[in-house]
Amino acid sequence: MGESSKAKAERLAEVYSILESRYPDARLRLDFSTALDLLVASILAARCRDDVVNRTTKSLFAKYRTAKDYADANVETLEAQLGGLPMFRRKARSIKAACEALVAEHGGEVPADVNALTALKGVGRKTANLVLSNAFGQPAIVVDTHVLRICRRLGISSEAEDPGQTEQALMKILPEKRWSHLAHIFSDFGRDICSARNPKCALCPVAELCPSFKG
Ligand code: SF4
Repeated sequence: MGESSKAKAERLAEVYSILESRYPDARLRLDFSTALDLLVASILAARCRDDVVNRTTKSLFAKYRTAKDYADANVETLEAQLGGLPMFRRKARSIKAACEALVAEHGGEVPADVNALTALKGVGRKTANLVLSNAFGQPAIVVDTHVLRICRRLGISSEAEDPGQTEQALMKILPEKRWSHLAHIFSDFGRDICSARNPKCALCPVAELCPSFKG
């Protein structure tokens, strides 16, 4: 018989507590001052390391301070500013289009609403939840590559479940007060121990709670 939802919730609670203690400094690694900064940084972070994004956004945020600044920008100039980040042309166009919509439909402000955010070009549920949880303090679960991989290995979600289904599965068994911090903890754990290739199961602090343990 499969694991009950209650047992899974208890196991996840234990995993969370162990990893929260193990990574007390876990936090979002993208630099930002405003919700707009974070929205832009999140778009740039697709398939790109956070430290690389931060190097680019330092000068970007100094130059573009409002949604109108991005909306009015020449797209080639914006592309050049993104300095060869992965998919920089597409990202420059997404940022410009998203900011045009912010100016046209939201008075130049970033809306604190998941549906309004995901209606913006280049903004999926992961980015929307990242902005909501980190810039607006709303409870939201970011299912990034680390969260998806670790949830699958822990048996919280199945290999067949996509990020949206994994988010739903987590929302059912994780207390709301833990939603926003989960991705911070799992990101540090994913980089440190439960890496995509060759996870260090022998060193894993939650090995006894993991059905994917390989000794
Ligand atoms: S036991 Fe291995 S697969 Fe499971 S969480 Fe730990 S490192 Fe990841």
